[in-house]
Amino acid sequence: MDFNQLAERLLPGEYPDLETYENKYPPRDLPAKAEVTRLAPSPTGFIHLGNLFVAIANERIAHQSGGTLYLRIEDTDLKRKVDGAVEAVIAALDYFDIRFDEGAEIDGANAYAPYYQRQRAEIYRAYAKELIRKGRAYPCFCTEEELSALRDEQTANKEITGYYGKYAKCRNLSEAEICAALDAGKPYVIRLKSMGDASKKFTFHDEIKGDVTVTENDQDVVILKSDGIPTYHFAHAVDDHLMRTTLVIRGEEWLASLPIHLELFDVLGFKRPKYGHNCSLMKMDGESKRKLSKRKDPELSLSFYRQEGYHPFAVKVYMLTLLNSDFEEWHRKFPEKPLEEFPFRISKMSRSGALFDLDKLNDISKTELSALSAEDMLAFLKEWALAYGSEKEQAYFADEDYLLKVLSLCMGVGGKKRRKDFVTARQAMGEIGYFFGDYVQKDAYRVDKAARDAVLEKFLESYDPADDAQVWFSKVKEIASSLGFAAEMRDYKANPEAYKGSVSDVAEVLRIAVTGKANSPDLWTIMQIFGERRTRERIAAAINA
Ligand code: GLU
Repeated sequence: MDFNQLAERLLPGEYPDLETYENKYPPRDLPAKAEVTRLAPSPTGFIHLGNLFVAIANERIAHQSGGTLYLRIEDTDLKRKVDGAVEAVIAALDYFDIRFDEGAEIDGANAYAPYYQRQRAEIYRAYAKELIRKGRAYPCFCTEEELSALRDEQTANKEITGYYGKYAKCRNLSEAEICAALDAGKPYVIRLKSMGDASKKFTFHDEIKGDVTVTENDQDVVILKSDGIPTYHFAHAVDDHLMRTTLVIRGEEWLASLPIHLELFDVLGFKRPKYGHNCSLMKMDGESKRKLSKRKDPELSLSFYRQEGYHPFAVKVYMLTLLNSDFEEWHRKFPEKPLEEFPFRISKMSRSGALFDLDKLNDISKTELSALSAEDMLAFLKEWALAYGSEKEQAYFADEDYLLKVLSLCMGVGGKKRRKDFVTARQAMGEIGYFFGDYVQKDAYRVDKAARDAVLEKFLESYDPADDAQVWFSKVKEIASSLGFAAEMRDYKANPEAYKGSVSDVAEVLRIAVTGKANSPDLWTIMQIFGERRTRERIAAAINA
């Protein structure tokens, strides 16, 4: 068979010789240890926690080593393409402070452009043509029906499915048979002629998992589809080479395709990049662990974190906690240091599935939010509220001075210890609702209706907004004793039967009446922020409830 002629017939016309591409996309001028990493999403519109997980690892390794992180869009499969998906990926990652140096829609030097695979069709064809010339790729005329019949036969025989070995019918077509099929105008794909042997295994060094044993590829995978568009496998190998990627950190779901990818790199004469396959994120489901699932777990989608108003910094802290075993301790020791200063290492990444736990993220969020200034908290809440808040919540920002007072109090700014009441923007907006007339009684009263009405009425009689905190509290104590509650805790403890309760029960009545909660920041200060009118209204409303 004359492979040159075959190549000409299958992919007619002048293609630049491969040197042209090698020269157009030369090795990068970077320091010796610099890593070039990438994110290569398909524009399906769904971007999830696993993507963020590897994005952070790729970003850290690239930037920490003085290298480059770029964004490539793997859009060869049009069926899965969703409009606006690229912008959505960039926006989602930008929210978590993942910045690309170059790539699709990125304002960078972009010397390795284009970064959309569909725009690189000619390059892939040129490389495919070369493989045909070398006798390492061939046309396959099998129809969908034939392939599906083959699959059925293999399944019935309990054999591995696919196009390989004796099943690779078109692999051994004669020149005459190929010409006849082409003359008849039969559609065809181009397949790799694999030289692998599936009975052989080899050891591969994975940057994350260490040495892994995998089976040689023997599948004659499609490299160009019938419309001349490459498959993901082929396109990504050509791109990772020409874009001079040195390290690929990606999800372990790709480990199964690795033997194909390695064979492609080898047959194309490319130097293989290093690979690190990251374990899937798991969660506890009852007693057992399972992978996070798109269908069952809303927290898998990155949009969940924005909609709920998780602070991106907190999410990033949690991701780093899962990514590198000693990060948590480092961050606790140096809470002020920018995360970029943490020495991130692939060698510290877990080899088995990291356990994702929303409660742990919530804990981290509380700590991180409590460390913000009231001003930063306000800015964060505002951004969230404008995008996701109700109209009522958006109105909280009409008087920012008032809101700042509220936030300072609720966060314990200036106090001995910061309060950790806020978890997410959505939850925080709910927490402070009572400052804006949005009262919800979250906790139940311990004192019966008659007794608490008596407390509230007496409070209204003696209430003077000009009282300082001490006078205010002495009045609460007076109310307590006048109604049969112990004014002093120790008296109550010494003789509980003698009283209806203690001053703390009285204070709790006031607290729930005003805030809806048994636990709140300092009640005197809340009333100061409320002002007299709103305080009186709130208490009257509780009496009338
Ligand atoms: N396009 C693949 C994806 O959608 C990328 C796989 C890789 O990183 O090599 O995840």
